[in-house]
Amino acid sequence: MKLTKFDNGRFEYREKLIANHAKKAGLRGKINAKCIECIYCPFSEGTWRKQVQDCNSTACPLWDVRPTMYDTEVKHDSY
Ligand code: SF4
Repeated sequence: MKLTKFDNGRFEYREKLIANHAKKAGLRGKINAKCIECIYCPFSEGTWRKQVQDCNSTACPLWDVRPTMYDTEVKHDSY
């Protein structure tokens, strides 16, 4: 498969996303980076967070703490 400039841009976006989350202080950024690295495909439908949310690898040790689209709502509901 020959990659176009457009394809390379999507791969670069993915790599930057992983690096940006990984360099954040604390574990949240590292967990997010790992999940993005594991499952996010920039050519598939949905944002990285939606793709991670849809992860069905329930045996993964990170599954319970993976980032989801409901994270913000849960935080607001609990206060
Ligand atoms: S929870 Fe899912 S996306 Fe995250 S590391 Fe585990 S298998 Fe990968």
